[in-house]
Amino acid sequence: MKRILITGAAGFLGSHLCDRFIKEGYYVIGMDNLITGDLKNTEHLFKHENFEFAHHDVSKFVFVPGQLDYILHFASPASPIDYLKIPIQTLKVGSLGTHNLLGLAKAKKACMLIASTSEVYGDPKVHPQTENYWGNVNPVGPRGVYDEAKRFQEAITMAYHTFHGLDTKIVRIFNTYGPRMRLNDGRVLPAFIGQALRGEDLTIFGDGSQTRSFCYVDDLVEGIYRLLLSDYHQPVNIGNPSEITISQFAEEIIRLIGINQKVIYKDLPVDDPKQRQPDITRAREILGWEPKVSREEGLKITYDYFRNLSKEELYKSKHRFE
Ligand code: UDP
Repeated sequence: MKRILITGAAGFLGSHLCDRFIKEGYYVIGMDNLITGDLKNTEHLFKHENFEFAHHDVSKFVFVPGQLDYILHFASPASPIDYLKIPIQTLKVGSLGTHNLLGLAKAKKACMLIASTSEVYGDPKVHPQTENYWGNVNPVGPRGVYDEAKRFQEAITMAYHTFHGLDTKIVRIFNTYGPRMRLNDGRVLPAFIGQALRGEDLTIFGDGSQTRSFCYVDDLVEGIYRLLLSDYHQPVNIGNPSEITISQFAEEIIRLIGINQKVIYKDLPVDDPKQRQPDITRAREILGWEPKVSREEGLKITYDYFRNLSKEELYKSKHRFE
């Protein structure tokens, strides 16, 4: 049986990856320090004989006994509010954490896939973004702690591949949504749905003309699964190219939920990218992958998830670092 270590296992993406690899018949070791993750996302796996959970911060030395075939490094604060509040941990998990896990992969002769991000393109001057674009990142701006940690992560991963012959994969993840996002993580989809459910106005940052392209989580997981099993080592964009403005997105949420909420405008955060859309030609050609779930379909499933949360969760959804 193949054994896989998934870091960030109690997070949004990590927990969905744990589910997928359990389903595929792997033995899964889920690791998380629970700083932004929540055990609720993985507790349904606790009784599964092929799953174990390790409470650990991967910025510190990582010990895993026995055979290990794969490592997926998905531990990191990932929402702008999170990495503004915990910048040092964000830098450490992307740099020291990645270094520790690459060392572990080398010792175990395991294949390692890292979760990179569209943030490596910063506020892009090329549109849509292809993997060959080097990006436009402000290293000392508020988002720099995340963006530069992820850029360093790509660099050290490629160096382990080139100099140690390690089998590595790099996925550049664009905005992704689905069940198990945190209502209070500050990202636009949970923010809008949370506001709508509480009867509050929807907060648009800036004039709402900035764009994003939202990918449903099951599509992302399928792309990552294919990339892991491929023999391709350069970065691959995984995301949904269907691009909309944040204003249009607010309208879609209001229509979906069937309410009459107003939108209100707040200041645009510093260095907020103006546009973002993945060019997925590489994923199509190399992995035979493209997204299948429409935004309409994905939003319905996600809304059902949030709607069924308890009232208590809905109202305690102020940000956890405040
Ligand atoms: N945004 C917004 N209202 C909110 C939260 C976010 O208008 O309540 C905007 C944010 O400024 C950005 C976009 O929505 O332009 C996506 O933000 P998110 O934090 O989800 O992710 P990002 O793509 O910026 O990392």
